[in-house]
Amino acid sequence: MDKKHALIVGAGLTGASVARVLADAGYKVTLWEKENRVAGAVADKSKDGYFVQIHGPHLFHTNIKEVYEFLSRFTEWFEYRHTVRALVDGKYIPVPFNFTTLEMLYGKADADRIEKKLTDAYGKDGAVSISEMRENADTEIKNFAERVYKCIFEFYSAKQWGMDMAKIDPSVLGRVPVRTGYTDGYFADKYQAMPVKGFSAVVENMLDHKNIETVTGVDALTRISVEGKDVIVDGEKADYPVVYTGCLDALMKFVYGALPYRTLRFDFEEVNAESFQPFGVVNYTVSEEFTRISEYKKFTAQNVKSDTSVIVREYPLAYDGQKELSPYYPLPVAEARARFAEYKADADKAENLYLAGRLGRYVYVNMDKAVADALELAREILRGGNR
Ligand code: UDP
Repeated sequence: MDKKHALIVGAGLTGASVARVLADAGYKVTLWEKENRVAGAVADKSKDGYFVQIHGPHLFHTNIKEVYEFLSRFTEWFEYRHTVRALVDGKYIPVPFNFTTLEMLYGKADADRIEKKLTDAYGKDGAVSISEMRENADTEIKNFAERVYKCIFEFYSAKQWGMDMAKIDPSVLGRVPVRTGYTDGYFADKYQAMPVKGFSAVVENMLDHKNIETVTGVDALTRISVEGKDVIVDGEKADYPVVYTGCLDALMKFVYGALPYRTLRFDFEEVNAESFQPFGVVNYTVSEEFTRISEYKKFTAQNVKSDTSVIVREYPLAYDGQKELSPYYPLPVAEARARFAEYKADADKAENLYLAGRLGRYVYVNMDKAVADALELAREILRGGNR
């Protein structure tokens, strides 16, 4: 039987998900990965019964049942509801900011009054973005919003993005709302869980299929180019789908200039202590040069016993193609999107080229959305195109 073929570039969560769905449907899939390991930004390694995530903290959460079910084919889960604190004036205050945080920072009389105002304005147990709250006409709510902004968002965001937040898409701050109630927990999604054997194992299991050939250590940019309507692979025009999950500017030879990304320098440390901090992640919103410290053994919710603990501090910076760093965050600003759109218009001329993932589509998406988009893309390819 004449098997259909697809080439996928990048063995992260996106590339692996597309590969698996196509392979399940009978495609022969070749997957090229630049690194010598798979799993991209979700890669981890096991350590004393927990997982150290090489590219910083990745916590799985979703409301998309299909995504949870798809991933559940490749892993069992630890239920884990991630809670985050910010260390402010020696106190661990809940983030997202909620009524507990409010009561830790305000006297009782003020806290009661503000809580009532917030509940009236945004509903009981609601969530509102700090950007919206700062626009509230009520002076007391506005002042409160300014204080929350200063306490949680201003300095952290300045470190993270290195630019004026007014330029950044408001959805970024909207990821961490202010809660008008006592609900704790970083995410509100229905499914919140961590894979029992880590994320690298999830990706490895996805790729463990007779129709998938994964080749690591391949620099696809030396073998693929886009020339008008054609995708050229190893000197020949490809007549099969090519799914590209890397940076589009690099694929298109930077003809419109480099797209901006933020990256992170990770400072890993193995501390000689059973526990380093009381929470999996502590954000540094008013002090320090790093944005947060993650303590990985806490991510499993399994109360792992070991004499040491691996922590990581994150130092954000601009990505300028540094060899030892990876681009993590597309910059959610209008100029960058416009430049991406120029690249995409050129890439779209090649009908068998499919852009995917955080880098390929230049979108700031979580793991679940990356998988949802990958499933959708795989279906589109199976339908025979129609981009
Ligand atoms: N943010 C902040 N203070 C915090 C947490 C988040 O200012 O304590 C802002 C910051 O701009 C950050 C954005 O909210 O980039 C989204 O935070 P999230 O934790 O979702 O970022 P990620 O884990 O994707 O880096």
